[in-house]
Amino acid sequence: MNNPITISANSAEQFGQQVVSWYHQQGRKHFPWQQDKTPYRVWISEIMLQQTQVATVIPYYQRFMASFPTITDLANADEDVVLHHWTGLGYYARARNLHKAAKIMVSDFKGLFPIEIEQVIALPGIGRSTAGAILSLSLKQHHPILDGNVKRVLARSYLVEGYNGLSKFDKALWQLSEQLTPAIETDSFNQAMMDLGATVCTRSKPTCPLCPVEQSCLAKAGEQQMNYPQKKPKKKIPEKKTIMVIPRILNERTNRVLMEKRPPTGIWGGLWCFHEIDELTEMDELLANLSLKAISSHTMTEFRHTFSHFHLDITPVLVDCEQLELTEINEPNQQKWYDLHQGLNVGLAASTQKLLTLLSD
Ligand code: SF4
Repeated sequence: MNNPITISANSAEQFGQQVVSWYHQQGRKHFPWQQDKTPYRVWISEIMLQQTQVATVIPYYQRFMASFPTITDLANADEDVVLHHWTGLGYYARARNLHKAAKIMVSDFKGLFPIEIEQVIALPGIGRSTAGAILSLSLKQHHPILDGNVKRVLARSYLVEGYNGLSKFDKALWQLSEQLTPAIETDSFNQAMMDLGATVCTRSKPTCPLCPVEQSCLAKAGEQQMNYPQKKPKKKIPEKKTIMVIPRILNERTNRVLMEKRPPTGIWGGLWCFHEIDELTEMDELLANLSLKAISSHTMTEFRHTFSHFHLDITPVLVDCEQLELTEINEPNQQKWYDLHQGLNVGLAASTQKLLTLLSD
């Protein structure tokens, strides 16, 4: 596998200059998080951009910053409200970690973003690359980065064997990034490397003639761009099944469905979902526990939600129930009647949102 790749000081300097000069001419500089750069603003954008396209992130980012303009505002917010601002972005652990990290900054750093990289990496949800990006982009500190886009540019430029997630591959790329990242204009270099991977050295269609390092790129020289990085060997994703029970109270005055808040950890942690059962035979017991009595039920069309590590086939069952008062539901903080004509300021799992849309039509 990969031996460490050593780059001469001259080659590293040339690579850095080409990338930085490309950034000055072609780089993206007008996103909301690139104005008035502070570690807090850059942090939020870096976390949102981890699994999500820029165009999707922009309105989420603007709403988030309008509601939580400071670290203290974020720390003091109710978790439901923070998750509500994330509804639709997926990977909700990101939002829960932002909230937890903001609380730590308030308790341990007087509400300020820490400026030592070790302190930043110790916060929940922030790895070495994200910490380096935050501190270099907002404070011009000298740290290498290695997100998925940067990995692709480096793996192709230096023909590094392996695939994302393989430790030898990641280690070889970190060594390259450390050697290539200049101490001057680190912010421009890091931003440029992320932009290059996102817009020029793309996964399926790299546009090498537009690339500032085309002359030295080994993959381009051997027309091997599509062989680097290699594809991760595929694992078959397991399939699971669940039944989602949607108790509904429908009359001329109201059209309400009952939801529950998930425990803080596990899938959809802290989000609002419908109750789940494994078998239809468990329905009566569930409704009895909720002090509800079924009048009629209707099985809706099954649909699939795919997580990174399994497929979940969901069968929704809409159950019209006899009306009871809210006070008759146990643990009211973990159960909510959602009025389909109104709205709820909480985080919703994607599947819940899909079902609510279907029910509202
Ligand atoms: Fe990627 Fe092509 Fe640039 Fe090489 S020359 S880094 S393959 S865009």
